[in-house]
Amino acid sequence: MTSHPSTSSYLLKGARLPLWLTPKNATNLVDIALVNGKLEKIESASANDLGLPVWDLQGALTLPLMVDAHTHLDKTLTKSRMGSITPGLLGAIQAMMADRAHWTPEDVYQRAHQALTWSYEAGVQHLRTHCDWWEPNAQPIAWQVLRELATAWKDKISIERVSLIPLHLYADAAQAKSLAKQVAASGPGALLGGFVHTSNWDLQALKNLFAAAQAEGLNVDLHMDEELNPAAQGLLRTTEIMREIDFEGHVVCGHTCALSAQDNTLALQTLDEVAKVNMALVTLPLTNLLLQDAVTGKTPTKRGLTLVQEARARSIPVMVASDNVQDPFCTFGSYDPLEALSTGALAAQLPQVFDDATQSICRTDWLTGHASQAPFQMGSAANFMVFEQANLWGFPSQTHKRLVIRNGMPA
Ligand SMILES: [Zn+2]
Repeated sequence: MTSHPSTSSYLLKGARLPLWLTPKNATNLVDIALVNGKLEKIESASANDLGLPVWDLQGALTLPLMVDAHTHLDKTLTKSRMGSITPGLLGAIQAMMADRAHWTPEDVYQRAHQALTWSYEAGVQHLRTHCDWWEPNAQPIAWQVLRELATAWKDKISIERVSLIPLHLYADAAQAKSLAKQVAASGPGALLGGFVHTSNWDLQALKNLFAAAQAEGLNVDLHMDEELNPAAQGLLRTTEIMREIDFEGHVVCGHTCALSAQDNTLALQTLDEVAKVNMALVTLPLTNLLLQDAVTGKTPTKRGLTLVQEARARSIPVMVASDNVQDPFCTFGSYDPLEALSTGALAAQLPQVFDDATQSICRTDWLTGHASQAPFQMGSAANFMVFEQANLWGFPSQTHKRLVIRNGMPA
């Protein structure tokens, strides 16, 4: 591999893109022309008719910059100051509530800023964060801090914010409307969110959430069935509500762990319904492996992952994301989506990790539902990563060392 030509107009030669990104009828290695930091042309064996300087990758694996589809910047990096925590999801929620009482805008800003710095260094260009919201009539301080950070970081990472509101706050239709209005009024990149679990199940509240989102033109992102209780029905009911009201927005459901615990026929029927609506799933392998089937002194035997392969077989977009990083929910993590993909690829035994599963960390269009955000559109910024040491069969091993290129230049 030769070295970067120190200009933002050049011919990137011999890049090995994943097959999902390789143009039809092209060879495995492609040449990509960049002009002024923008993608101009992808072809097999370019004649370099523009006479550009050449950066020869000699077959190095190359990916678009990444999307981290599900994070919690408000809670992140709090683990170090906490005492012992009861294992499992509900224990983590209790520990978080106790810590939250001490949050200040400066504390949230510093922790979230650190997280974004790691994310940027890893090669992320789009990040969606959830933010706990527990008062019907007051925005949490973190929501406002995250709005400020989204503005401050807009040239580096595009940041979306989801209001993570307990389902019972939507039980009253007027209150549901008021919450959606506050979220919609809080600026661009805001989505309506909620936590849907058998411990708080309320069909009417979920209907109110969707009606309120529809009225405000908001997209929805839910923490859905994050449990191994086969009775969890949030995902199936969500598809029914979307069809009932002809929901116009895009919906993302994170976790959906319960599918893995349900009767397989029923779970597959639910996925058939998901495939008919405008929905993407997000799997969070690190957090699920750590929080599901978590009992002190017992080795877990259930993985808690959603049915990734079955969903993909139905062409349902499935993202893989970081989720909680170094907080009471998950003590691990580094805001590198490749770390989440590595864990997810092992836990879900995904085939063709580079050539197929990398879509789960690069397809911003899958997360937002906007086709215009698909990676590597000609005329868009040349944002990509080159892996000098990784290989096709071991990917994503040896991806720690990577060259992150933004607007054609090393970042
Ligand atoms: Zn989450």
